[in-house]
Amino acid sequence: MVLFKVFSSYWKILDLVFPPRCAGCNEWGHRFCPNCYQKPKLIPEPNCCMCGDRLTSGYKLICNRCDLFPPIISAVRSWAYHDGVLQKAIRNLKYKGDLGLGESLARLLLEVISKQTWPIDLVIGVPLDHRRQKERGYNQSAYLSRPLAHLMGLPYSAKAIKRIRLTRSQVGLSSGERLMNVKGAFFADKKIVIRKTILVVDDVITTGATLNACASALLSAGAYKVYGITLARAERLMEE
Ligand SMILES: [Zn+2]
Ligand SMILES: [Zn+2]
Repeated sequence: MVLFKVFSSYWKILDLVFPPRCAGCNEWGHRFCPNCYQKPKLIPEPNCCMCGDRLTSGYKLICNRCDLFPPIISAVRSWAYHDGVLQKAIRNLKYKGDLGLGESLARLLLEVISKQTWPIDLVIGVPLDHRRQKERGYNQSAYLSRPLAHLMGLPYSAKAIKRIRLTRSQVGLSSGERLMNVKGAFFADKKIVIRKTILVVDDVITTGATLNACASALLSAGAYKVYGITLARAERLMEE
């Protein structure tokens, strides 16, 4: 936490010397500018109480998809749809490793979490496997989850869960393939997660396969409940 504060002040000083460019529109002055903040299409209410998807019928609490395939994770919420400037900002976070951008985007997650009454004890990010982490040098989910934990005033752990086998990138896979690709891919540390209510942070939710696989590992290791939060979500979650 102390280290985070040091880094946070460090970026602020750096921003004065080298003004940042917006990750959404490339304008100078902000990491994610006020103009881009207004652009993303937010998920209209009411939402499915589990996956957070827009509900089309006002009298139901759960969408048809969650009714048919109940998720393992207790609930997931996202800031906006995966499109336009948000998609571009996420790509920048993922491939350029901009730590300051992670902090700016974590503030959007804070907006989402502030509307929930989830009794979170611990915040974690979806881990990358060793090889990808080594190639990329960082994990974009950690860049979001660590500052989010700080903003929420809650503990963060980078060691609560790890990938125990290599998985292909989920991009381009069908929903069934995604599910198989991450099934059993995670292992949680019982000592860290037991009896905790855990918030798992990721950049995008497409089918929910990754977040559900994380939840499954955390619950098997004794976590009490698992919730998920992402910056973006696919317009319609693919069926699992
Ligand atoms: Zn912008
Ligand atoms: Zn749902």
